[in-house]
Amino acid sequence: MEFAIVPPAQAAIPVAGSAAVFPVRRIYCVGRNYAAHAREMGADPSREAPFFFCKPADAAVPVVPGVPTALPYPASTKDFHYEAELVVAIGLGGADIPVEAVPGHIWGYTVGLDMTRRDLQAALKAKGHPWEAAKAFDRSAPIAPLVPVAACGHPQAGAIWLTVNGRRRQQGDLGEMIWSVAEIVARLSTLFRLEPGDLIFTGTPEGVGPVVPGDAIEAGVEGVGRLALAIA
Ligand code: MN
Repeated sequence: MEFAIVPPAQAAIPVAGSAAVFPVRRIYCVGRNYAAHAREMGADPSREAPFFFCKPADAAVPVVPGVPTALPYPASTKDFHYEAELVVAIGLGGADIPVEAVPGHIWGYTVGLDMTRRDLQAALKAKGHPWEAAKAFDRSAPIAPLVPVAACGHPQAGAIWLTVNGRRRQQGDLGEMIWSVAEIVARLSTLFRLEPGDLIFTGTPEGVGPVVPGDAIEAGVEGVGRLALAIA
C-alpha cells in the first residue's frame, strides 16, 4: 500500500523495566469517578453516574523517570488544571466484557495526568457543548511507564496523590472510586469494542487545581508508579 502522505507516527508509551513500548490506540477517560471530586466540580455524585470522554492517542506524553519532562503551558486557557489518575491498559480486546472477566483483558497499569483547560470546560459545560477543546488538546495526557500486571497485580486500594512544588494537592485512595476498574472496563465495553492498545483514565480524587509555568508536578499511585514533570 502506498500512502498519499507520510503516515503519522504510532503513539506509544514506555513499559517499565523493558525496552519495549506499548502502542496507544485510543485514550478513554472517566469523569466524576470519586464522590469528593464530583462535589468539588458542583455535581451530586448520588444522582449522577460516571461518564466517558476521549483524548486522541497522540495526546499521550511519555514521562520517564530520570528524564526531565517539560510540559508546555497550552494555548487558549488561563486555568490549566492537573488531575492525577490511575490508568488501565487493555491487552486483550472485547465487547460486552463481564465484570468478572475484566482482569484477563488488562495488560497493565500506570499513573497519568488528565490535564484540563478548566476555564474552557466550564464555558463548554454551560453551553452543553462537547468537551474536546477542554480535554483533548495536544499533550493533555502525560503518562508514566506502563507496569505489567505480572509486576503490580490488579490494584484495588492504595494511595493516589499529587503534589505541586512539593505541596500535597490531591490525596485519595483507589478504594474510593464510585465505579471500580472492573466496572469501568465492563461498562465501557458495552459502548465501544475495546482493543489492545486502549488506555483508560479512571478518574481523579478531589483537590484538582491550577498550575502555572515553572511549577513542578509529582503524582503517584501506590504500588504502581509515579511521574514528575515541570510546566514550561
Ligand atoms: Mn479526569
